[in-house]
Amino acid sequence: MVEHYGYDPWLVGLSFAMASLASLTALNLAGRLRDTAGLARYAWLAGGAFAMGAGIWAMHFIGMLAMHTAMPMRYDLTITLWSLLASILTSALALALVRKAQLSVVRLLFGGAVMGLGICLMHYLGMQAMQLEQPISYRMDLLLLSIVVAIVAASGALWLFFRLNPHGTNKRTTLPVRCLAALVMAVAITGMHYIGMAAADVAMVPAPSSEPAFSSVAFSVAIATVVASILLLALLMAIYDGHLATKNALLAASLKEANHELQSLVTLDVLTRLPNRLFLEQRLQEVLGRSERNQQPFSVLFVNLDRFKTVNDSLGHHIGDTLIKRAAQRLADAVRNQDAAARVGGDEFMIVTGEGTCRRGSETLAQRIVSSLGEPFQLGEQIVCISCSVGISCYPGHGDTPHELMTHADAAMHHAKSLGRNNYQCYEPGLSSVAERRNHLERRLRLALVNDSLSLAYQPKVDVLSGEVTGVEALLRWNDEELGQVTPDEIIPVAEETGLILPVGEWVLRTACQQVQRWHAKGMAMLPVAVNLSAIQLNNQHFVGMVEKILLETQLPAGYLEFELTESAIMQNPDNALRILLRLRKLGVMLSIDDFGTGYSNLSQLKRFPINRLKIDRSFTAGVTSDPQDAAIVKAVSMLAHSLDLDIVAEGVETDEQLAFIRELKGHQYQGYLCSKALPATQLERFLQARVALPA
Ligand code: C2E
Ligand code: CA
Ligand code: CA
Repeated sequence: MVEHYGYDPWLVGLSFAMASLASLTALNLAGRLRDTAGLARYAWLAGGAFAMGAGIWAMHFIGMLAMHTAMPMRYDLTITLWSLLASILTSALALALVRKAQLSVVRLLFGGAVMGLGICLMHYLGMQAMQLEQPISYRMDLLLLSIVVAIVAASGALWLFFRLNPHGTNKRTTLPVRCLAALVMAVAITGMHYIGMAAADVAMVPAPSSEPAFSSVAFSVAIATVVASILLLALLMAIYDGHLATKNALLAASLKEANHELQSLVTLDVLTRLPNRLFLEQRLQEVLGRSERNQQPFSVLFVNLDRFKTVNDSLGHHIGDTLIKRAAQRLADAVRNQDAAARVGGDEFMIVTGEGTCRRGSETLAQRIVSSLGEPFQLGEQIVCISCSVGISCYPGHGDTPHELMTHADAAMHHAKSLGRNNYQCYEPGLSSVAERRNHLERRLRLALVNDSLSLAYQPKVDVLSGEVTGVEALLRWNDEELGQVTPDEIIPVAEETGLILPVGEWVLRTACQQVQRWHAKGMAMLPVAVNLSAIQLNNQHFVGMVEKILLETQLPAGYLEFELTESAIMQNPDNALRILLRLRKLGVMLSIDDFGTGYSNLSQLKRFPINRLKIDRSFTAGVTSDPQDAAIVKAVSMLAHSLDLDIVAEGVETDEQLAFIRELKGHQYQGYLCSKALPATQLERFLQARVALPA
């Protein structure tokens, strides 16, 4: 038993408070490790380790001050400093051990053991620093007890802080839980100290010495400094946290606002103020979903103005535009509240009726439209007479998918035109050659897969600043004996409808990966390749396995493969998409959003997906220098992308002016005819060689 005259209760209290404050600060700082990356992470770790280490150290010496002794205690300077260093280093090790987001029990116990042993090491080194007349001996049972208390309580504190988390692993624990963790940690520190003191068997008689040593007074100053710096750290931490929270809130708010704006920009037709095709296709999808569930009929109407081109050419664009606006107004007046009308092309409009509209109801609506648009238009001085043709397709019966319903309404509209215009027609089977072509295409595509008559073309992606080719996008090409050249825009929908997209997609992926390796074998630099994905591939349960298999088979490092997918492909089944995308990212494959701006354009939603790039759709790039609306959309998109740290790729860059616009927005890469169209593999080789030979 140490011989002394008891403890000062105030100072004992202070030592506990000191340990609690230090623990709270340290755990708070270390808790930030998970939300940060890079250098900042080391800064948080260092801060946490310092607060913890210095706190334990300060607690020890306050505890020593609390002890009434006959004479002021003196401490060896070197050992004292060593004890501080040991305390900080073991704290750093312990915090580094438990900082992982997925903290295993083993790691946690190991971290707790290191922390607890660190506290003990500090304590017994601190005891060694005392300059006493006789060496200290320890009672074994109490010494062991002090170690056990330190380890158990430290593990408990770390568990409370890093594991006990009601909101899932990524969020931080709540403040009361954090405070509780700090208190438990303080129990580890002070409990260990006072049990350790009880274990020491020595008379507290300072040795006369001339060595450099601290007096109690010097210690008071040192401890006060440590306390002050820990308080300061805690304060800074709180300020920073608050600052971060407001910054995040502001970013979220501006993101929401910008998204809102973007949404109305991309779904509105500027000339007529009617919704555009995008809006209507979304609406069609929704109505179809509900009608399927509720077994309700509805219809799609295609409205085309008759001989509009003649009016436009003879009376001028200005009158033409006015006519379109007025026609749109009449159309909007003719439809009922539950119907949605949109302008889907120059002189084309589309209507999706409300659910519960039977064929008779749609025909009445079509008749009303034909009559209304058949009335003469008074445009300034001029009276202009036009008429319109309407095609109707009804659900159920005329199609089960948006694509079918739309093409059938279109076919019916053409039928109405062929019957002399100024009338409406309903779809009938056999009306369209569209369906026939589709069947023909399907048969030939099956053959093409077997005969290997598909091929890929590769379009370079270029760094906006350096002009260097940074990769290629693989695009499907098909030259069929009977059908001739068939574009992917025609192949992909048929392949998706028939499920052929799975073997086609696998063929594309394998061929693209093989090609990169083939180029590399010829001595060219490794070239990253991007492959387009359809929603059906993404939602196929064997998809990731197939990707792994092909990477293995072709020995292509995953980092050289990129998948391009559209937002709508992701949003078809967001939960599944998230799982699949995370697995792909884990493999090392890069991911980009294709045709951005044409879909939901909801970046706040996209934020939760592990995406590397955004590709701005070529329809916007086309208008950036001529259409203020396109320019506004591209600006908004790139601003948001920058704020989310996404790479931006502009598609369809055809002119220097467009490139300059993209460069100004700090876009990273571009693709387009300005550099090159998609080329067969051998031509791309020549293209790259010629480009390298070019002076910079
Ligand atoms: P995408 O992914 O947006 O591909 C870019 C399209 O824009 C390509 O048309 C390309 O030839 C064209 N393009 C490139 N630069 C320019 C330019 O400067 N101006 C203009 N006006 N157009 C440019 P492509 O090859 O006809 O492909 C059309 C779409 O078909 C692709 O659009 C993609 O969505 C789909 N697709 C192509 N290959 C595949 C494939 O293997 N799998 C899947 N699922 N979809 C594919
Ligand atoms: Ca693409
Ligand atoms: Ca695209």
